[in-house]
Amino acid sequence: MTMIRFEDILDKVEAYKPDFDEELLQKAYIFSAREHRGQVRSSGEPYLIHPLNVAYILADMRLDETSIAVGLLHDVLEDTLTTKEKLHEIFGVDVAELVDGVTKISRYAYVSKEEQQAETFRKMLLAMVSDLRVVLVKLADRLHNMRTLQYLPEEKRLSVATETLEIYAPIANRLGMGRIKSELEDLSLRYLHPRDFEELEKAVDEKLSISGDVVGRIKATLAKKLKENEIEGDVTGRVKSLYSIWSKMRRQEIDIGQLYDYLAFRIIASNVKDCYASLGIIHQMWRPVPGRIKDYIAMPKPNFYQSLHTTVVAERGQPFEVQIRTREMELVAEQGIAAHWKYKEGRVGASSDDASFLWLRQLVEWQNEIKDPRVFMNSLKIDLYPDEVYTFTPKGDVFAFPRGATPLDFAYRIHTDVGNRCVGVRVNGKLVPLRTPLKNGDIVEIMTGATQTPSREWVNMVVTSRARHKIRHWLNAEQKNRSIELGRKLIEKEAKKYRVQWRKLIAENALDGVMTEYGLPRLEDLYADVGYGKVSARSVVERFVTEEQKEKGTTDEGVIQAAVRKIFPFTSSPAAIKVKGYDDLMTYLAKCCNPLPGEKIVGYVTRGKGVAIHSSNCPNVKNLMFNPDREIAVEWADQRQSQFQVEMEIVIEDRQGILARVVSAISNLKTNIRQMETRSGDGKATIEAILEIADLKHLEKVTRSLSSVDGVVRVDRKYNIKHATA
Ligand code: MN
Repeated sequence: MTMIRFEDILDKVEAYKPDFDEELLQKAYIFSAREHRGQVRSSGEPYLIHPLNVAYILADMRLDETSIAVGLLHDVLEDTLTTKEKLHEIFGVDVAELVDGVTKISRYAYVSKEEQQAETFRKMLLAMVSDLRVVLVKLADRLHNMRTLQYLPEEKRLSVATETLEIYAPIANRLGMGRIKSELEDLSLRYLHPRDFEELEKAVDEKLSISGDVVGRIKATLAKKLKENEIEGDVTGRVKSLYSIWSKMRRQEIDIGQLYDYLAFRIIASNVKDCYASLGIIHQMWRPVPGRIKDYIAMPKPNFYQSLHTTVVAERGQPFEVQIRTREMELVAEQGIAAHWKYKEGRVGASSDDASFLWLRQLVEWQNEIKDPRVFMNSLKIDLYPDEVYTFTPKGDVFAFPRGATPLDFAYRIHTDVGNRCVGVRVNGKLVPLRTPLKNGDIVEIMTGATQTPSREWVNMVVTSRARHKIRHWLNAEQKNRSIELGRKLIEKEAKKYRVQWRKLIAENALDGVMTEYGLPRLEDLYADVGYGKVSARSVVERFVTEEQKEKGTTDEGVIQAAVRKIFPFTSSPAAIKVKGYDDLMTYLAKCCNPLPGEKIVGYVTRGKGVAIHSSNCPNVKNLMFNPDREIAVEWADQRQSQFQVEMEIVIEDRQGILARVVSAISNLKTNIRQMETRSGDGKATIEAILEIADLKHLEKVTRSLSSVDGVVRVDRKYNIKHATA
């Protein structure tokens, strides 16, 4: 960095304000030099370098000589023995108050970081209203400190950079000071994410060198076209600010390899009409990217920024942004409030009718009402970051999200488990659907359920990468587990069919050859592949089937069927499906044909989702069955076979053989006994049994039959019914 001399400042001020008070600046310079004499910065340079640079930045903003004098003197109250009274005596009330204001902003009396931030904001706002110049000097001070941050110790660097990104850059942005804002952001990024920063810088450099002088070529084309159309306009081209590229990459979850949109051009036209004309010319030459045309001339931003924006795609698919605006708009875009701040003699405040102070006045009114610094910070952030949504937990913790975020994003922000188990949400006390976009100030209360799990639709209901990642992660793990389970069952069934002792094969490591052949490290992976339908169960099992077994054919499927009677409840349909020969398979009704109970159905092993149940007439089935290995026989569960568990209490005389008669009375009615316990004492015994009962008629039959058994004293139903689910 070139060394700033006092003369450079004088030259700069004279250029825009020839009648400036040179004596004031001379006095301030000499005073500052004397007061800071002997002091050095962390860089080892004389301290005076810092106030000189701050004053130079203020001159760059074309501020009045009072501001520049304050820039030269801004640290004397803080770092030297000078008093406010002395400043008043030598430089007058304005300079004394301003320096005092700048000094107060950085003086902390609070302990927590949050309170400190809130307090800095509060002071900045108060200063803005009483005299905006305090804030402008403070911003210049911070800018120079950021430019020389490398000399500070690591810990200090991080805290200054964080504060800059969270407080100073947003304030600069809100005041429309685009140039300072960008530089503060880029410098913060460099220290907060040094690796990202370097990588990005390198990547952009490489792209630029590969594409030759792409900036020059586009610039030349633009200039030529404007000239042909008799439009007077200056064209400049540049790489977008690294911070803006970086935050966009984060937002869109793209990595450096996919980075294309990094060039920006600017046309400064002489009037508004030419701005729109230029836009038309550009769109004739290059294809505009939909959704990227912005008319901030007709609709200025809240900080009074005006410009036309468009993004077009040029040669070899290279996209670039063009901003088109007039010279006046350019000044406002770069310098914001400093560009149109009028200094009136004797009174410099926010009592001006200028609309830009409406926002400030509102903020100051709020901050007078709100005593809790945390609440104040939150309301302020809402205003400073318009692209974000600020939401609260019922306890008052604040979470910021990109616009469009839903309660699911919120749930995953709290904790992965809270997200995975999210069953519902109350926003501001009212139950709302999970896909409801959150609004600023929403109080969000997530409800969880122990058995809830993420569903596939959730992926499209969230906007934060964290939530999306967590949901996908869960779904993938779950899909894998289910596939393993399904694959294991399919293989075991196939093995049973051919009387192959699968478990024995595993124990004898007889499967190693197969695993190697398929290139699978673990048995689980083989199951998963079968479950996914990549490998058929038959092709695996057949290797272990002897010719003799093959000739014998399969075992009687009826035996397996009888052994396993399971009912599958469905949420999508009141009907239940029984899958022949399988215990607890994951099944679902295919959406294409939605088979009805009673209809002929077939099962098909899908990749990772279990067994799809199709109607036999479904046209999709005919195509699917080109892969017959993945077909499974299924049938509807008989509705009458739905069983309920009923607890019975049977009191009997305690004598020989009676228990056997009770059991056979139950079995004769084709009734399953799930559980049975007997207690005896003083000649009587009590049997507590859980029976599988289809309906009331069935129960009455069982009760009658038991009552008629010789030796049974009493039969009672205990009312404690549970549905027998799979
Ligand atoms: Mn300073």
